[in-house]
Amino acid sequence: MSDKEILGTNDAKWLDSYKNVHMNVFGTPLRVMDHGQGTRIWDVDGNEYLDFLGGIAVNALGYAHPAWVKAIADQAAKVGHTSNYFATEPQIELASKLIELAGAPEGSHVYFGNSGAEGNEAALKLAKLYGRTLDGALPDIGGKPARILSMTHGFHGRTLGALSATWKPVIRKPFEPLVPAIEFVEAGNVESLQRAFNETGLGRYGKGPVAAVIMELIQGEAGVVPLGADYVKAARELCDRNNALLIIDEVQTGIGRTGEWFAFQREDLSGGVIPDAITFAKGVAGGFPMGGLIAFGEKLSSLFTPGSHGSTFAGNPLGAAAALATLKTIEDDDLLANAEARGKQLRDGLAALDNPLYGEVRGRGLLDAVELSHPCAHAVAGWALEHGLIVNAVAPNALRFAPPLIVSEQDVDECLAVLAKVPTDLPND
Ligand SMILES: *Cc1c(COP(=O)(O)O)cnc(C)c1O
Repeated sequence: MSDKEILGTNDAKWLDSYKNVHMNVFGTPLRVMDHGQGTRIWDVDGNEYLDFLGGIAVNALGYAHPAWVKAIADQAAKVGHTSNYFATEPQIELASKLIELAGAPEGSHVYFGNSGAEGNEAALKLAKLYGRTLDGALPDIGGKPARILSMTHGFHGRTLGALSATWKPVIRKPFEPLVPAIEFVEAGNVESLQRAFNETGLGRYGKGPVAAVIMELIQGEAGVVPLGADYVKAARELCDRNNALLIIDEVQTGIGRTGEWFAFQREDLSGGVIPDAITFAKGVAGGFPMGGLIAFGEKLSSLFTPGSHGSTFAGNPLGAAAALATLKTIEDDDLLANAEARGKQLRDGLAALDNPLYGEVRGRGLLDAVELSHPCAHAVAGWALEHGLIVNAVAPNALRFAPPLIVSEQDVDECLAVLAKVPTDLPND
């Protein structure tokens, strides 16, 4: 009996069942998927799709990569989970590897969680502990709480702490009041950041010191919008001058996505800005849920002490083994260079498409987007899906591309060929 017979084959039937038992936070799924291989995935009806979303920048090695499958299977046969009363070899190896890849200084330490939001929760908690070391920040002795500054249009996750630092009003407002002393500054505007720092002060109107600034170097969920290198450098300087931490959320941009291990390492992006902490998740374990935080240097790292933070699954050995296999394959197969080359091919190809639907192209490596002439991104993505291509309607008038880092030259050509044929007169979403 084939898999299809076991599953009963019918996409519509499965979607109906889905709706009956899942809370409707994601809307109706586009398809019910069955299995994948490389850059391709098949639905329960046997339709094949070329995947240029990669589980939203997660499936770095595509589907069912043999090294990834073997690493998880071998580890599962040994030990799939312990508590954090115990450690395992893969998690120790992984933490060292991530510190090395981030080029973090001697004394840097990792905290593992299970998602991007959890990485950011850890970063925000660490920033809060750091804030309490700043002058005038201790509320219990008449001080004012230290603040965390976040960017307009930034995205850091859906848990309450991470959501407090997430801009999009429609997803944030219904849950207010959220964590206090997290404020937004205008992304890319140095004066706005300077003003927020200047608000620190004594007296009735002065606010507490700034503990940290948190930002993405490319705002992924906002539509793949890079922050300018000059802005990032100015932010680093302002943080230095005011004893504030610079936390870079590399959840989407990290693990080779932009052609370097982390986006802050790109010369053209930041000009060599060194963060105080970075968070990671999405691609790190190639599809196994894992995320976390790297604190740069001993001083910041040591603010977390037993009891400060934790999670039952933190550093799970299956995730750690999956991550080690993912990182090793990226290294062995030179996938950073592939991300760079295929990203350029994709952006050049998009810019050259002879179809008035497409406008400005932006992004780095394999985190890219194209503007559309009118707000029809869902219709375009829907049309592409019908024609065997998965792309993402990241904004009403922009498509996002985040394919597996193993994507080939032919895959990119195939993606461009489908996009070239999208009708220009699709209705607005
Ligand atoms: C996806 C994302 C998150 C949240 O990650 P989850 O694993 O969904 O919790 C946080 N920050 C950025 C920049 C992201 O792209």
